[in-house]
Amino acid sequence: MFILPYLSVKECLKQVFFGRRILKNYIMAKTKEEYCSFCGRPKSQTELLISGMEAKICNYCIEQAWSILEEKTKTAAPDLHIDHSLLKPVEIKEFLDQYVIGQEEAKKVLSVAVYNHYKRIGQATQSNEVEIEKSNIILVGETGTGKTLLARTIAKMLHVPFAIADATVLTEAGYVGEDVESILTRLLQAADYDVALAEKGIIFIDEIDKIARKGDNPSITRDVSGEGVQQALLKLLEGSIVNVPPQGGRKHPEQKMIQVDTKNILFISGGAFQGIDRIIASRLRTHVVGYTFAGHKDENIDHKNLLQYISPADLKKFGLIPEIVGRLPVLTYLNPLDKYALKKILLEPKNALVKQFARMFELDDIKLTFDDEVIDYIVEKSEEYNLGARGLRSIMEAILMDAMFELPSKSKSKTKNFCVTLDYAEEKFKKASISKLRPAV
Ligand code: ADP
Repeated sequence: MFILPYLSVKECLKQVFFGRRILKNYIMAKTKEEYCSFCGRPKSQTELLISGMEAKICNYCIEQAWSILEEKTKTAAPDLHIDHSLLKPVEIKEFLDQYVIGQEEAKKVLSVAVYNHYKRIGQATQSNEVEIEKSNIILVGETGTGKTLLARTIAKMLHVPFAIADATVLTEAGYVGEDVESILTRLLQAADYDVALAEKGIIFIDEIDKIARKGDNPSITRDVSGEGVQQALLKLLEGSIVNVPPQGGRKHPEQKMIQVDTKNILFISGGAFQGIDRIIASRLRTHVVGYTFAGHKDENIDHKNLLQYISPADLKKFGLIPEIVGRLPVLTYLNPLDKYALKKILLEPKNALVKQFARMFELDDIKLTFDDEVIDYIVEKSEEYNLGARGLRSIMEAILMDAMFELPSKSKSKTKNFCVTLDYAEEKFKKASISKLRPAV
C-alpha cells in the first residue's frame, strides 16, 4: 500500500493487469469452464473447442488459422498439384497409347493441345506478355470409338479432377433440365470442393452435337435445348467467374454459391455428329471442281472416312453457333473401329477387357483363358450387332455370366483353370438376352 506512490503509472497498470490475469485464472479454475488458449473465449461461447496437449482451440481460431494457411499456400505454390515440366506432347501420346488403341491423329492433336493448355496456365501473366488463348478441344467420331476414354485418360495422367457432362440434359436457365453450371458442380465434387484444384481440371462435354440448332440459320423462336444452351455454355468455355451451386440443382437465392473461375479449365467436347459426312462431302465436292482440296485430288479422297477432312465450317453448318466453334479451336476426329481395332481393344490396352476378366477370376484362384477363335467370335458379334467397342464388354459378360456365378463357390483354395472354348461361347451367347437383339444390317 505504501509502495504504490513510488511506482510509475505504467508499472501501476502492469500490476493491475497482472492482478486481473491472476483473478481470471482463479475464476477459470474455480468455475472449471474451458477456454480457447488463443482468443480466450469460454467454451460456452464457441461451437467447438478442441483440446491439445497443453492448449485448446475454438472453431473461430481454427477458421482464422485455415484462411491464413490457404492464403500462404496460394502465394507460395500456385501449382501444387500439377508438374508441367514432365509432360511433353510425345510423352502424353505415349501414355495415351497404353490405353487407347489406334486414333493416332486424335491422340497427337490432343497431346499437343493439352501440353499447350498447361503451358499456358504455367506462364506468368504479365501485362506486356502475349496472352496465349485457351485450347479447348472438340472430338468428332462415332459413339464408342474412344472419345470419353481419351479425355478420361488425359485427366488420369495429369492427376487433375475430371467430370463428364451430358449436353443432352442441359437446358437454358429457368427451363426443366439442368443449368450449365451443374457441369461445374460435378467438377467441384471430383475435386473434393478444392476450388483451386477444380479450376485446373478437365470437363468432358459429351454429345455436344445434340445441342446443335435445328438449321443453319439463327432461330427466331426460342430454342430451349439448342441454341440457348450453346449460348449458356459459351460463358463457361470462354472463361468467366461462375456462381456454382455446391450441391447442384437449381440456383436458389438462399443457397450459398461457390465462385469458380473457368479460365483455366480445359473443356473437351465430343459428339458423333451423325450426318456430318454429307456436309463434308458436299463441301469437298464444291472445292474439288478444278481445284485440289488441302492437297487432295478428288481421286485421293478417302470417301469411306470423310470425317478426317472435317473443318470448323462443317460444325457451323451442322448447327453449332460460330461463337461455340470459335471457343473450341482444336478440332479432330476419331476413326470408326474395324475388326482389327476391336480385337486389339480386347487384348492390348493396359486395362483391356480380357485382362480385367482374367484378374477378376484370379481373385477366386481361377486361371481364365480364351481360345483364339473366341476372341474373333466376340469381335464378330460386336460388329454384327453394331455395338462397336461398347458391345465387347456386354458380350464378354453374356458369355461369362454363368461361370462368374458358379465357379467362385466351386473353387476352394486350389487354383483351377477355366478355358473358354468357341462351343462354350456360342452356347452361352445364344442363351443371353443380348443375342435377342436384331443384328444391324
Ligand atoms: P465414346 O465416348 O466415343 O462414345 P467411349 O470412350 O466411351 O466412347 O468408349 C466406350 C468403351 O469402349 C471404352 O470404355 C473402352 O473400353 C472402349 N473403347 C472405345 N474405343 C477405344 C479405343 N480406341 N481404344 C481402347 N478402348 C476403346
